[in-house]
Amino acid sequence: MDVGGLAELDGRITGCRACPRLVEWREEVARTKRAAFADETYWGRPVPGFGPADASLLIVGLAPAAHGANRTGRMFTGDRSGDVLYAALHDVGLASKGTAVSADDGLELYGVRITSPVRCAPPANKPTPDERDACRPWLVRELELLRPSLRAVVVLGAFGWQAALPAFAAAGWAVPRPRPAFAHGARLTLGAPLESGSPLASGSIELFGCFHVSQRNTFTGRLTPEMLREVLRAAADAAGLPTKSYPG
Ligand code: SF4
Repeated sequence: MDVGGLAELDGRITGCRACPRLVEWREEVARTKRAAFADETYWGRPVPGFGPADASLLIVGLAPAAHGANRTGRMFTGDRSGDVLYAALHDVGLASKGTAVSADDGLELYGVRITSPVRCAPPANKPTPDERDACRPWLVRELELLRPSLRAVVVLGAFGWQAALPAFAAAGWAVPRPRPAFAHGARLTLGAPLESGSPLASGSIELFGCFHVSQRNTFTGRLTPEMLREVLRAAADAAGLPTKSYPG
């Protein structure tokens, strides 16, 4: 993919129309809206990654939510899943604040970027395998561009895990075969990309599995704020990012 830097990639992503079903859905949701947001202009397009171009920690979700990121245009912004994620990031010192309501709310991430393997909101939060595969080149290119600084990754949920491992392999990292199954608390090392010329210690990354921050998990207590903070702290540690204890 002939794309220069991350900013150019992000711009290209927002114009993608490769998946007819998802294009139709994201635009229909943007037209019909949810009553609570009737006076807002929905983004209604693919959502690029959010966070600095030299991030050492990457968080990989599933896909934008219809009335969350598909409305605001920023990953995990404007919905309950994002409320949980950003609160935890702020609790451990990786975000400037614990709320995310709009793309211009001033929120900053410290050394962290958030992305997803599918960039358009899918009906029922379920992209098809074809849609997942169609979107993979965007994630692969994002990983290649982040490679000089990337040290650790948190993958939220089994879908993200299954979608991300082939993307890491395509971006050059050594992914074990057979591919390890997703589990909350899973941790594995992906060996350095061969072409990077880096010694393993500096080019390898640590991959962490974490239950997704969906309401299905957080409302039922399957994923508690402390469980999420624990994974984020461990991943930040692997990424060389400072964290703070909670409550601080
Ligand atoms: Fe393009 Fe990905 Fe959206 Fe499909 S899901 S239209 S590949 S950005």
